[in-house]
Amino acid sequence: MKDSQTRETLLISACLTGEPCRYDGKSKELPGWRALAEKYELVPVCPEQLGGLETPRDPSEIQGGRVVSRSGRDVTAEYEKGAQAALALAQANCCRLALLKEKSPSCGSGLVHNGLFDGGLVPGDGVTARLLKENGIAVYGESDIDKLL
Ligand code: SF4
Repeated sequence: MKDSQTRETLLISACLTGEPCRYDGKSKELPGWRALAEKYELVPVCPEQLGGLETPRDPSEIQGGRVVSRSGRDVTAEYEKGAQAALALAQANCCRLALLKEKSPSCGSGLVHNGLFDGGLVPGDGVTARLLKENGIAVYGESDIDKLL
């Protein structure tokens, strides 16, 4: 293993590393994340918690440019605050790469839930994934882990 000061940093959705930060109070631990930790200096982040949302919380989806919870609460401001905090953390740690949880209204990249809470997906990025991309950070979903190993 290279010295931690010389390893590249990788921003990673905290729920993929076993943190119970999801809306349902559980994690979504990704088999193989420890192999990433051998290669990269991991920077775990949960944008929804950084945005001030509680855990557990109502699930939310993107509806016409807003983020709305299943009970109808507009949480766009919290999602945007969390995205800015995640970007600041990424930049402070010189992250050029991110591995983020797929389909999430924060972390999803390329496909997100359709806003109907029926499990359907539509093309698009979560609020944090989009901001990271706009700032030059390459975003991967967890099914792309092999590309980073
Ligand atoms: Fe995981 Fe991202 Fe959702 Fe946090 S905001 S629970 S890191 S998918």
